[in-house]
Amino acid sequence: MTKRVILEYPDSRLRTLANKVNVVDDDIRILINDMFETMYDAPGIGLAATQINVHKRILVADTSVDKSDPRCFINPEIISREGEVDSEEGCLSVPGFYVSVSRSEKIIVSALDQEGNSFDYSLDGLLSICVQHEIDHLDGKLFVDYLSPLKRERLRKKILKNKKHKKDCCDSDDCSNPRVSVL
Ligand SMILES: [Zn+2]
Repeated sequence: MTKRVILEYPDSRLRTLANKVNVVDDDIRILINDMFETMYDAPGIGLAATQINVHKRILVADTSVDKSDPRCFINPEIISREGEVDSEEGCLSVPGFYVSVSRSEKIIVSALDQEGNSFDYSLDGLLSICVQHEIDHLDGKLFVDYLSPLKRERLRKKILKNKKHKKDCCDSDDCSNPRVSVL
């Protein structure tokens, strides 16, 4: 398994629309293993292939506390939705920022598993929110898109400033500039 690099906002490659997977073969299974390793290492509870610059419709998730519930969805499609729920979301591609997003409370997802078999899954709670967040990634959408344009622009500037600061001085191990931890 190989850990992959996670793209970070505002990288324009995060806006790419992912393509459907036609055949679930060993290459796809290797990719999925890499995605799990990358997600667990980050650490995160979900990862879309888009985030590692692979534009195929695949997402992985594990919302358990002890990494005991790995789930993989290939070509996921939400076929029904119920209710509405607001929650604070974070994103591995927008590290350090949390945004309140309104999502469907319960969903039914149709997808392929790692053997290429199709299945329907009823999801609720954190896993439902996570899968909706990751499907957004596959569509080139980010959770910051749910902010007003003004708030989004402010966030973008903050992130760019933070990145510049990191580049200028935080390549050294002992940077203690408090601006980093604030952002
Ligand atoms: Zn994300």
